[in-house]
Amino acid sequence: MNGKQTQVQIIKDKIKKLEFFPKKFLGQHFLINPQTIQRIISEVKSLESSLIMEIGPGLGALTDELILLEPPLYVVERDSTLCRYWKGRDVRVLEGDVLKLNWEFQLLPNSVLVGNLPYQVASRLMVKCCPGSDKLKAMVLMFQKEVAKRILAKPRSKDYGILSVLSQCFWVVNAVAEVSVSDFYPRPQVAGQVLVFHKKKVYLHNADAFLSFVKLCFSQRRKLLLSRLKKEIENRDIVDIFNQVDISPSARAEGLSPQQFISLFNRVIG
Ligand code: SAM
Repeated sequence: MNGKQTQVQIIKDKIKKLEFFPKKFLGQHFLINPQTIQRIISEVKSLESSLIMEIGPGLGALTDELILLEPPLYVVERDSTLCRYWKGRDVRVLEGDVLKLNWEFQLLPNSVLVGNLPYQVASRLMVKCCPGSDKLKAMVLMFQKEVAKRILAKPRSKDYGILSVLSQCFWVVNAVAEVSVSDFYPRPQVAGQVLVFHKKKVYLHNADAFLSFVKLCFSQRRKLLLSRLKKEIENRDIVDIFNQVDISPSARAEGLSPQQFISLFNRVIG
């Protein structure tokens, strides 16, 4: 048996023992490639965190390794059968939907978030973590390959948009590993990509309003950004603000760097 076959057998044995059926609506595709698992674990190790918060431990492809590391491990899991499985082991279990639960209050300074989650949940969680808790210093998350491309995209490329600006404003993002559909059991429809995020120091006048501002800027991509903002923000001299932050009046949202979005936002809001 090769590494993947062994891993599938381990998962099948756990499924049988727990009388468990993988649930499609919870995106339960379990990692079976030992190299991918080790790549994620070594990334987490190198972060030297004070606490690890794993989202969606599933049947433990990552969790069984994370438990062996020094920092305390918390898991957030929506599936109640899996929560029962993890309770009583060497982890703290938070049961519920990561997008609704207040898991941040458990973090310590220099915590790390780890997760192989359903792809839609991972994207929404990433948006929630922009900026997210001050205590979070890094994240290692799996995304659908196409979404990962958008997160990593540079200005003026076709994939550059809201996800790229948001993530790159608050995090330094790097690609860690590509994950093919055959690296999961059962197989999903699309391949994944693991990304690592390192927190940046950013000053925003009102972080909560930043997402709406970026959305507004991209709401009509082909229009000049200046005319888009002039129409929506009536109480500020937008031409003057563009001058102050050295942005061309003919700029479009897709041509602005993440840093330019921050400068523009702080002037508009401030
Ligand atoms: N981490 C395991 C692995 O790599 O094999 C499991 C990955 S599986 C793709 C996703 C896991 O996230 C499942 O255990 C699922 O029940 C859990 N999950 C799905 N949606 C969730 C949510 N909104 N909040 C917390 N956990 C969720």
